[in-house]
Amino acid sequence: MSTLRRSTKVVGVAAACALAGGIVYGTGAASADHPTGKTTAEPHNIGLLVKEIKSYYGATQDADGVWQASADSAYADDMARITAKAERDIDRAAKKAKKHGEKPAVVFDIDDTLLLSLDYEIKTNYVYNSASWADYVARADRPAVPGTPDLIEYATRKGVEVFYNSGLKETQRASAVENLKKVGIDVDLDADHIFLKDTAAPPAYLSGCATATAWNCTTVQYKSGTRKHIEDQGYEIVGNFGDQYSDLEGGHADKTYKFPNPTYYVE
Ligand SMILES: [Mg+2]
Repeated sequence: MSTLRRSTKVVGVAAACALAGGIVYGTGAASADHPTGKTTAEPHNIGLLVKEIKSYYGATQDADGVWQASADSAYADDMARITAKAERDIDRAAKKAKKHGEKPAVVFDIDDTLLLSLDYEIKTNYVYNSASWADYVARADRPAVPGTPDLIEYATRKGVEVFYNSGLKETQRASAVENLKKVGIDVDLDADHIFLKDTAAPPAYLSGCATATAWNCTTVQYKSGTRKHIEDQGYEIVGNFGDQYSDLEGGHADKTYKFPNPTYYVE
């Protein structure tokens, strides 16, 4: 959820409402690029969608007024199913890698893959703002995405190296590390394992989309380029975990795991 990531975030509720207010759907002249009203499907009602999202997370406010996901929510159920499958896959992949003399690794996005931003999303009405987001990250007080500290601990126990591939800024490194530790994720939190977006001094392995003076990497280029860099150090990436499709596209992983996140979209 860095500047770049959120600048490409497609829809926030307020933005979508403003947009809807300015457009009369289903009218106007038909053309090849502009279908008639009869072909236009009415989008999901945004007021109902907000309710569905809260219900999906079982969102409730704790004693401090912080929105939390409930342990018995559909979201928690989905996460339990995904992480259980991932553990079975990791177990198999670790055995296979050992047999073939490979170094197995897993790669995790951070925002809403390991650290849940639900409180921020609800309180901002799902609309990103760079200043409020920076403050939120700096508090280093996000809860874990359900089941992920155990999943990372499991991978480590199976001899699988853990890497983090995040759109957080290099300047947010200390907050990210502090927050991960706080939720019980304390594996490989050094600079060789946590890759953050350094637009001011892009690494040489991103030379396909960034120079020393200009950053032009899409999320997919940045994240897949980072995975290639990990592979180039001799690791076999057996699993890549993210809450956005842009975390997962671009190859350089044997398997991908899409975590649920209905609150924003990052291109
Ligand atoms: Mg994310």
